[in-house]
Amino acid sequence: MIKDTNTIIAGIPDALTPHVRRVTAPNGGIMTGPGTNTYLIGWRDVAVIDPGPKDQQHVDAIIEAVEAGGGRIHSIWVTHTHRDHSPAAAMLVERCGAPCYGAILPDDGFQDLSFAPDTELHDGLTVSTDEWSLTAIHTPGHVHNHYCFHFEQDGLMFVGDHMMQGTTVVIIPPHGVMADYITSLEKMLDYPMQAIAPGHGYLIEEPHKVVQDTIAHRMARERLLCMKMTHEWQSLEDLTRAVYKGLDKRLFKFASLSLLAHLNKLVAEHRAETDGADNWRHAS
Ligand SMILES: [Zn+2]
Repeated sequence: MIKDTNTIIAGIPDALTPHVRRVTAPNGGIMTGPGTNTYLIGWRDVAVIDPGPKDQQHVDAIIEAVEAGGGRIHSIWVTHTHRDHSPAAAMLVERCGAPCYGAILPDDGFQDLSFAPDTELHDGLTVSTDEWSLTAIHTPGHVHNHYCFHFEQDGLMFVGDHMMQGTTVVIIPPHGVMADYITSLEKMLDYPMQAIAPGHGYLIEEPHKVVQDTIAHRMARERLLCMKMTHEWQSLEDLTRAVYKGLDKRLFKFASLSLLAHLNKLVAEHRAETDGADNWRHAS
């Protein structure tokens, strides 16, 4: 039984399934949609997925929701260490001492360096209580240390930034790799799920169809890039302008990073070449 709400209000818990509540952080914006979603799994021994940004108000809202349900925090799970997903982990640990599950990466200017997992995740790691069972699935692509968490009993896949509701995910090289991203999307199709619970936005219904559409969208983008690329050198900026027509200026940097991820994939497949100075052309 899965039911979403019509509006997301930061700090107000929404019950989505018998065991899952969502508390959204007050960090809404152009990259974060209505804000980062923190998910609470279970009522007595609560798993907290993606505690969110460093925000006292949000940490208070998480603890309040857990205590209002008569529970305690059992463990903290982090899909990846971007700064809108994991920094509140350290704040929650200070308040409740629960163990953290996650994976870390060398810094690339986008990572939360305060995150220190007690248990390093690996593909297939499963933790169970008498209320829930979560399985970690390694899904590199958005970033290399990205994991999704499968909660089969309630039919949900918690996907962090592997998928977003209403928008496409940014792939930032070098930790973001487009070829890995496509493979990680295909991997999701193997799992039974009734809905995807994204790090930003509402639950995503018809999950298998949406994953297939997302793969098709990425491949279409790659085909367009191949069409716009010539046998002359073109800069990343020129290619971004050619591929993303009419793009909101505020998104230009992130669009060009995603395009760079596509270009790296094409170079690895010997379909494009680079001069090493930010210029690309068709492989000769
Ligand atoms: Zn992210």
